[in-house]
Amino acid sequence: MKKTDKHRIYLDNNATTFVDPKVLKEMLPYFKECCGNASSIHGFGRKARMVVEDARETVYKLIGADSSDEIIFTSGGTESDNLAIQGICKGLKKNGNHIITSAIEHKAVLNTAKLMESEGFRVTIVPVDKNGFIDLDFLSNAIKDDTILVSIMYANNETGIIQDIKKISEIVKKRNIVFHTDGVQALGKLSLKVNELGVDLVSLSAHKIYGPKGIGILYLRKGIPIVPMVKGGHQEKARRPGTENVPGIVGFASAMKLADSGFDENNEKIKSLKHRLYKGLVANVGDIQVNGPIDKTLSNTLNISFKFVEGESILLNLDMKGVACSTGSACTSGSLEPSHVLSAMKVDPVSAQGAVRFSLGKYTTKEEIDYTVSILPEIIKKLRKMSPLYEA
Ligand SMILES: *Cc1c(COP(=O)(O)O)cnc(C)c1O
Repeated sequence: MKKTDKHRIYLDNNATTFVDPKVLKEMLPYFKECCGNASSIHGFGRKARMVVEDARETVYKLIGADSSDEIIFTSGGTESDNLAIQGICKGLKKNGNHIITSAIEHKAVLNTAKLMESEGFRVTIVPVDKNGFIDLDFLSNAIKDDTILVSIMYANNETGIIQDIKKISEIVKKRNIVFHTDGVQALGKLSLKVNELGVDLVSLSAHKIYGPKGIGILYLRKGIPIVPMVKGGHQEKARRPGTENVPGIVGFASAMKLADSGFDENNEKIKSLKHRLYKGLVANVGDIQVNGPIDKTLSNTLNISFKFVEGESILLNLDMKGVACSTGSACTSGSLEPSHVLSAMKVDPVSAQGAVRFSLGKYTTKEEIDYTVSILPEIIKKLRKMSPLYEA
């Protein structure tokens, strides 16, 4: 494939996705002619209220919830995680002050758990095994009489590792404890029906499924008390005050409908491209390892360690050639800290440093994968030549 500047290859769909033109088209009227406040009682407001409630209907049905009252619109996955954890901690304080989460959660969960700790809650972090799966015995033993919440993610954003949420739910529900899952990466990629999974709260975000940024959902099972994080009006039944993001809500529902109708087709295509990428790399680059068993990870996510080189350098070189992907690790103040997810899986530091996350999407093509496979061996060879760790 001839690649020009105009053709940049996007393999970072776990960070965010491009808005599907069909979603954008459905949203546009709510920026232009239909822009009432859903709380206003005049015609403009009533129209806005109607589309918000239509979207809520669509959403609750798609996730198999019991009623539209269980859907709270938020500003995104981060806010949903915060509202779930902070809201339950405040809402169930009288029952205890212990919460449980895992070592591989998104920072929106881990840092909220830290905040709760600073406010006097006890936090237990469940470890994972070398494949990234939650230690179920540890979890089971960690649940005490004062435990009020367990929060374990459905699928990990860095490695794509999928947890057995049904099994975890059985353990948690046997003890009658509220169970939250961060379902942001699972949506559109895995079956996500709240009653089948046995979850009480689920965080979702539109921009990971070809919807707009800045709109999220918290599914909250009926009867579970939650204390809102912000004070204001009565919107979202006072659980999340603030004027509704009407175009965002319309866009989220639209993106969820598309994800549902294209579920099998998209995931099968993406999965075969992921395997094509994996096979191409195995055949053409030595000293690599996959982080997370390839068949137990999301259809679109491939986290690969290129030993003896830094993931950061690989990604800069790929970027220069027009390929966008990411490292799992966050670069903190100049020092390259290995990813907390890979550390939790006890990936050795040399491999963790060389980790690159390729996350494919529904717009990824075979040609793009082949181009990526064609340029990587040269990049890795060059970087290894410069690496003090590498002896060919
Ligand atoms: C992206 C992401 C979030 C945060 O969602 P935002 O809408 O970007 O705030 C939370 N959890 C996971 C697993 C994610 O991948």
